[in-house]
Amino acid sequence: MGKIIYKTDEEIELMRLSSLLVGKTLAEVAKIIKPGVTSLELDKVAEEYILDNNAIPGFKGMYGFPNTLCTSINSAVVHGIPNNKPLVNGDIISVDCGVLMNGFYGDVAYTFEVGEVKPEIKRLLQVTKECLSKAIDVAVTGNRIGDIGYAVQEHAEKNGYGVVRELVGHGLGRDLHEEPQVPNYGKRGQGIQLKEGMVIAIEPMINMGKKSVKQHEDGSTIVTTDGLPSAHFEHDVAIRKGKAEVLSTHEFVEEVLKNKKS
Ligand code: MN
Repeated sequence: MGKIIYKTDEEIELMRLSSLLVGKTLAEVAKIIKPGVTSLELDKVAEEYILDNNAIPGFKGMYGFPNTLCTSINSAVVHGIPNNKPLVNGDIISVDCGVLMNGFYGDVAYTFEVGEVKPEIKRLLQVTKECLSKAIDVAVTGNRIGDIGYAVQEHAEKNGYGVVRELVGHGLGRDLHEEPQVPNYGKRGQGIQLKEGMVIAIEPMINMGKKSVKQHEDGSTIVTTDGLPSAHFEHDVAIRKGKAEVLSTHEFVEEVLKNKKS
């Protein structure tokens, strides 16, 4: 196991820029999500936007992943590969995006509704977002990794959902995946202590049904075993005293979504 790499305030400012660029990239994607569009079209828009902003797509080529976005539809949890299949009204699509800029990664995910989705799926998205927010609330100095996992697990399971165990959040910095691992399940007061200068990606992956997942035959996509939908939201967070500092934002995305509705 590697060591935790603590960041200076200057480094955290650079990470904020990387994280913000991902949030803005996801907003570009949000603009064109609708029934009939393909995940490959979303991927193209994201890649061009990142390159136009003098950054590098963070996932492309990483562990052999071929694209800029991970696009995971309905029962796909994460690591979906963009393809030519049009999105259908009622789908959900989790879009995970990373960039590398000034030597530091940003890594953000958002699950989008395609057209009109069923109320029970809206609820899954809402609760997953709440899991992320509750996790961020406890991501402060003095607490432990287990406090973050507990916050996610408690809220998800209270709502009858399954928490994916096989994939976890992570430290973030000059590498996309640094120590520590940040599981979405755990016990309060357990695991390593959170300290100032740690930057972590918190990313609950919450299943409408059972927690169990498997790898799709494409060798990349992780899907739910029971075929029910899964949601994924992710923020990059700097550990601070009293209150975590969220470096990324879903604000640009939500602004776009609000304007699409009205
Ligand atoms: Mn991540």
